[in-house]
Amino acid sequence: WLGLENKVIIVTGGASGIGKHIARTLKDTGAQVVVGDLNAETGSQDEEGIYYVQLDVTKKASVEQLVDHVVAKFGTIDGLVNNAGINLPRLLVDFKGEKPEYELDEKAFDLMIGVNQKGVFFMTQAVVREFLKKGSGVVVNTSSEAGMEGSNGQSCYSATKAAVNGFTRSWAKELGSHHIRVVAVAPGINEKTGLTTDAYNEALAYTRNITVDQLGTDYAKAIPLGRPGRLDDIGNLVTYLLSDRADYITGTTINITGGKSRG
Ligand code: NAD
Repeated sequence: WLGLENKVIIVTGGASGIGKHIARTLKDTGAQVVVGDLNAETGSQDEEGIYYVQLDVTKKASVEQLVDHVVAKFGTIDGLVNNAGINLPRLLVDFKGEKPEYELDEKAFDLMIGVNQKGVFFMTQAVVREFLKKGSGVVVNTSSEAGMEGSNGQSCYSATKAAVNGFTRSWAKELGSHHIRVVAVAPGINEKTGLTTDAYNEALAYTRNITVDQLGTDYAKAIPLGRPGRLDDIGNLVTYLLSDRADYITGTTINITGGKSRG
């Protein structure tokens, strides 16, 4: 139904969390899935047949190496999921004056911009060069509710995701006449991933001036559908967007937040 059999699709950050579920869902459709991740060994394959390449999206040379490797091995690229991302909850100013380490410093700023923004740009640039050779392709970017609504204690992260939304709209305009679609998905509160660790929750609770327990309760209450997002929910949406069934969808960011976010 989806027509993704044998399509070659790269998923960045697919060794963990949401990206891993996207990779698995795509594999179930018969696609040839390549995961590029900081935490991967080039040339390895898992039991499901997903192929791995070591990648650092913050390094243009690493990105270009991945694309060359995939084209040499699989002959083409049909889709790209820009999913690799990091989130360090940090305040603009440590109002309470108790934990200056939770005030955003230059290192954390550069890291978030590097992975979430620069990484998405250069990955897309390298892959779109391949798309243009055959006149088709789909890019799906992983944005966030934070990028649509802003987020208390996560202003830098939120700004990188708003940048992803800007890339999405701009590239859709730039590439539409080449039949290349660019879409983003904006998840909200989800099942735990490698990103939402205890350390993450502690940092977020401090920056929001609440306890970790309150964080959990407030989160749960705020979702109209009454549950956090499942990683499969996101995998299913991304898979649909990569397929020809979504042929008229481009230049937009789709919320997947159980009704919490207006977008
Ligand atoms: P995760 O930490 O479980 O997975 C992220 C993956 O990206 C990891 O495998 C990591 O090794 C990889 N990665 C990190 N830096 C990299 C780099 N420089 N180069 C290549 N790979 C790199 O996180 P997740 O929660 O699955 O998040 C996936 C995406 O979803 C991110 O873009 C995140 O911002 C977004 N998101 C997550 C949530 C959530 O609740 N978890 C909500 C909204 C949006």
